[in-house]
Amino acid sequence: MSEVENIKNVHKIIDDLWEEELLFLKTLGSYKSVLGKEKGIQTFIENHLNDMDLITTFFDPDPKKLASYKNFGKPEWSYENRPVLVGEWKSRSEKVGKSLILQGHIDVVSAEPEYLWNQDPFQPTIVNDKMYGRGICDMKSGVAAMIYAVKALKKAGIELGADLQIQSVIEEECTGNGALALLDAGFTADGALITEPTELRAIKGQLGVLWVKVKLNGSGAHVERAEKAQNAINKAALLIQSLEEYREHINSKPKHYDYAHHPHPLNVNVGVIQGGDWASNVPSECTFEARVGFYPDQDPADVQAEVKKWILDAAESDSWLKETPPEVSFYGFSAPGFSSSSDQELFKTLASAHKVTTGKEMESIAFTATTDIRAFEEFGIPATCYGAAGANMHAPNEYIDLNSLKTATKSIAAFILDWCKEAQ
Ligand SMILES: [Zn+2]
Repeated sequence: MSEVENIKNVHKIIDDLWEEELLFLKTLGSYKSVLGKEKGIQTFIENHLNDMDLITTFFDPDPKKLASYKNFGKPEWSYENRPVLVGEWKSRSEKVGKSLILQGHIDVVSAEPEYLWNQDPFQPTIVNDKMYGRGICDMKSGVAAMIYAVKALKKAGIELGADLQIQSVIEEECTGNGALALLDAGFTADGALITEPTELRAIKGQLGVLWVKVKLNGSGAHVERAEKAQNAINKAALLIQSLEEYREHINSKPKHYDYAHHPHPLNVNVGVIQGGDWASNVPSECTFEARVGFYPDQDPADVQAEVKKWILDAAESDSWLKETPPEVSFYGFSAPGFSSSSDQELFKTLASAHKVTTGKEMESIAFTATTDIRAFEEFGIPATCYGAAGANMHAPNEYIDLNSLKTATKSIAAFILDWCKEAQ
């Protein structure tokens, strides 16, 4: 068959497998795969890849082996029973194309508060061609798309002209250490595609991201003597306000060229706060955590130093905090940004697969958050993201648009065929 006929045939098989792909995605969505609870879904996917005759490897990341990578994020938890997974489809022919990694993360963020959802976030529901559920968009949809793209190629009887891997990783949402663990173990290739939900666009750059933790001490007391006590929550409010000023400060500076047209590319988000346990007690401790975005040409260590100085300077303006400075520490994301030229061959091949599938030119974007493509960059592997369209990621009523998911599955299949080539 010619390449055009091959693609048409594979696309028809994706149509035929569509109900099965939906059921697969629903099953993925039924696993509450938040941090620490990834093993069940990884085992389910491993069985599925074995059924597709892929050779699977499954292991828990070892943070000691990963600590020297620039993309390493410092964890505050164990990796026991938290496997990463790879399934390999080895080419039986001599290499005529380029080898490829398809990668997705199965970790999801918390769905709390769940009462804000219209349905159980871990019982995916289809309404009007949209599937709702936590992680359904980000990015179990992509995991389903890449697996069904490969399944359709196999069903069509195609043998690839280069090796292909399906990687299913953990911790995209907090450190990126899952992606690093597979690359460190030698699971590399000539190119990588992460099937994140990009609305059928390619990512040509992304911001850096770090997490900061600030711990304050007050001086507790019964509320009747509160004027003598120092309220740690009130003191935290001062420092949180200073981070708002930091956010305005960094966005008022000249922008990186990838973000020149973005009105407000850098976000600073306070995402966690803990302090106090009784309305009539003056809290003696308060801790808050924030996520800080920065440009691709900045070093995470420099930004950490800048953020720390900003917070400590703000503390100087308060007589209590001046004497009792907050403890500023960093864990989780310490993720450099990434900027690539979109005329690389990977982008060209993806753009042509997108055009064959949709009849339209592919757009590329600079992303205002982070993804695992930075890990591939550290290993010198060209990488981008491309996947379906959805909304409400990290929020209640997250969903994926199912028509776009079918299109993404087809584009990914066409991309694999063009990148890896058919065996001779
Ligand atoms: Zn994601």
